[in-house]
Amino acid sequence: MTHEKPSTNARELLRKYWGFSSFRPLQEEIIRDVVQGRDVLGVMTTGGGKSLTYQISGLLRPGLCIVVSPLISLMIDQFESLKKRGIPSVMIHSGMTARQTENAWNSIQFNKTKFVFLSPERLQTKTFKALYPKLKMGLLVVDEAHCISEWGHDFRPSYLKIGLIRQFQDSYPTLGLTATATPQVSQDIKDFLKLRNTVHHQTSFSRPNLAFQVINESNKYNCLLEKLINSKKERSIIFVRNRRKCYQISSFLQQHDIQAKYYHAGLSNAARDAIQYEWSQNKIDVMVATNAFGMGIDKADVRQVIHLDVPPSIEAYYQEAGRAGRDRLPARSMIICSREDLRDALEQQTSNKVSPSDIKKVYHYFCLHHGIAEGQGQFIPYPLPLDVLIKKTSLSALKVYSSLQWLERWGLLHLATNEYSHHKIKVITSRENLYKMQVESEDYRVVIDYVLRTYPNVFRDFQSIDLKRMAKEIQGNEARIIKLLERLHTYECVDFQRGIEGNSVTLRIPRVVTVNLPINAAEMKRHFNHQAHQLRQMVDYIANDRLCRQRMLCRYFGEELGQDCQECDACKPTSKPSVAPALRSHWIQRIKTLTQKPHSLAYILSHFETNERPEVKEIFHDLCQRGEVQNHGPNTFISIPQA
Ligand SMILES: [Zn+2]
Repeated sequence: MTHEKPSTNARELLRKYWGFSSFRPLQEEIIRDVVQGRDVLGVMTTGGGKSLTYQISGLLRPGLCIVVSPLISLMIDQFESLKKRGIPSVMIHSGMTARQTENAWNSIQFNKTKFVFLSPERLQTKTFKALYPKLKMGLLVVDEAHCISEWGHDFRPSYLKIGLIRQFQDSYPTLGLTATATPQVSQDIKDFLKLRNTVHHQTSFSRPNLAFQVINESNKYNCLLEKLINSKKERSIIFVRNRRKCYQISSFLQQHDIQAKYYHAGLSNAARDAIQYEWSQNKIDVMVATNAFGMGIDKADVRQVIHLDVPPSIEAYYQEAGRAGRDRLPARSMIICSREDLRDALEQQTSNKVSPSDIKKVYHYFCLHHGIAEGQGQFIPYPLPLDVLIKKTSLSALKVYSSLQWLERWGLLHLATNEYSHHKIKVITSRENLYKMQVESEDYRVVIDYVLRTYPNVFRDFQSIDLKRMAKEIQGNEARIIKLLERLHTYECVDFQRGIEGNSVTLRIPRVVTVNLPINAAEMKRHFNHQAHQLRQMVDYIANDRLCRQRMLCRYFGEELGQDCQECDACKPTSKPSVAPALRSHWIQRIKTLTQKPHSLAYILSHFETNERPEVKEIFHDLCQRGEVQNHGPNTFISIPQA
């Protein structure tokens, strides 16, 4: 695969493949430095055009461009985007069949591709390690590079090993890309990726079109409803921290005739795809989501992002808040929460900490559940028996996950969430041996017959099995077939790799005796301290009402703004609503009439013009404070006749 002629410049490529005539800030500078062979760290805020920098640099560098990416969805998006433009690229991920994967490796080996998208885990596989020294490398790109730092918001232990490949070949530049990095995280990226004389390019963290706001309010549902009614038919995202709330809030909004749907990692792939599609087609006005609704889902015209829970860190908040106003038109990012929420968030963090003994319990019961004996169980993806683990360990789901994440961090296992892979099988014994098994039992006979008949190449290659079809054709049940195939695997007749839908755990090293688990208590302590520090900074941001929020956010990322934004609730010049006394008493009367029967605030507001609502709300709160209107059941109010 030849690269673009040296005479071709970046701007020509931009026009040729993307149809743009000019670059966004910093794109050209990053490309220039990478093409000259320098290591670059590019910190570009979401929507700044990160991908384009490596796509064009990759085209301009001679040789192969490897792009390491943490999420399959991200990988697919970027792969598709290059494919659409006719740029040769391949990807390798766990959702592909053995045949597809092999084809991809072949394209790499025989120089038939320019771009390769891989997960960090793939760099550690035997296939990659064997191939790598022979590759003519042009560029290594590490996307979402903040995942390398345990001080970032999305630490992925497998990222730590990416830099190691340089010891076998290092004559090419590395480009680390991320949307957010504090000075500390940037340093980690440089250290762990082994960047040399790094050029650090960073766009500004300020988002002038975003009005950051914090609303101190304990009646969140009403407040939310009011914000959404006022912004009818505009796209909004509501972020909450758990799946149950996603469901509750979207039902609540639907009851009030707002087109809302919810999205979280617990939905099936098909359901998530469907929702993403509807969202992209403007068929949903309000998305209620957990942080799973994030990377790879791009929509430029989101007008407001509302957080109903305290985010765990400023990085996480900034990323999510930044999904508003990507089209650079005015948009709002607000947090609705009360003082109690802040206290609860701090308390919860303390109570969610896992201990070394929790981690041991989770590991123990996981192995026990799957019957994994000491010294065994390596490299086989097992479904995550979350309910069983919760019951056996008496820990919360959160603590079970967190325990598994620690074990992943120490290299004992790999936790895959929401992945999908096919069941795969390959015969690794002779026909004679298979025949012996067939004679031995009728069950084996039926299964083996079917496999040989349906997959004639099964002696040569891994074949993906369609279990549903198989169960139907041999009139067996799926669980039983899996058992039989696993037994044939133990007898070394076949290599059976179980497919996974949902969450799975793969032991990276054979099961160890639980007491010998290499638990690093000091590291845990350091991590918890850091987490607490991050949350405290988030809480400070929310509790603050004097310092410009835009300034505060930028300062967190090491950037000083010259002036206040004039748009956030902390620095905006106050313009107290002033309503003429006559109009005011008219409105008071109307509110009281409307609340003769119990009604919600949203109901009351819906009887006023949009531009009147902020003042009406003020008056309503005054009435509540004076006791003339009182709470009557959840979110409804009734007026109290005055003497
Ligand atoms: Zn401000």
